[in-house]
Amino acid sequence: MRFLILADIHGNSEALDAVLERARADGYDEVLVLGDLVGYGAGPNEVVETIRELTPTGKVIRGNHDKVVGDLEDGWNFNSVALAAAQWTRRNLTPENLDYVVSLRPGPVMTETGLVICHGSPRDEDEYLLSVEQATEVFRVHPHVLTFFGHTHIPSLFVDDGDKVSVAVVEGEHAAVPVERGMRYLVNPGSVGQPRDQDRRAAFVIYDGDRDEVHWRRVDYDLERAQKRIRDAGLPPILANRLAVGV
Ligand code: ZN
Repeated sequence: MRFLILADIHGNSEALDAVLERARADGYDEVLVLGDLVGYGAGPNEVVETIRELTPTGKVIRGNHDKVVGDLEDGWNFNSVALAAAQWTRRNLTPENLDYVVSLRPGPVMTETGLVICHGSPRDEDEYLLSVEQATEVFRVHPHVLTFFGHTHIPSLFVDDGDKVSVAVVEGEHAAVPVERGMRYLVNPGSVGQPRDQDRRAAFVIYDGDRDEVHWRRVDYDLERAQKRIRDAGLPPILANRLAVGV
């Protein structure tokens, strides 16, 4: 079975459309979504509707932006741009789509085949999992072999070989890692809608459960259209500018 794994879409429907077109060519059976469907981009309704259609088994969890957009948190820790975008998104989602965002579950959630999905980390949905020290602590309390996380927007990988934990940042569009016996993995696919690794292309992962391999992918999308919609919507212009440089 092949899984398409999406994180941090952030209302960028142009990026999501390009990812789906590419992923269909690759082939997948089920979609897992690691949160932050909305916030920042100008296409939140399209993103929510597309994700609802793609995930009949409901393997979708919430991110911190989804919580603030849904008014489950007040965004006290958001900068002014993120907060303005969350408020714009709340005003512009249809009532039905806003209800869906409010209803999203917190991670971690496990699939029938034992994969785990979470937004920040399995121990804290709002944690930015960036260091080997943090990953070591997570592996200590979290026994699962293969866990997917988002939130940092950096395509990356922590591996516990039973002895020590190592980290790798994943670059380019054809990286693949085999899941090896005796090892455990925390995998970040990168962000669909707002990459922050200085590569403007949308990022995603295909996990091939038959070969037991994780494949990272990058794909170009209609950046100019996404930027124009952000500016036309009256969202903070920096949200359009940063998409061009992937920060
Ligand atoms: Zn995010």
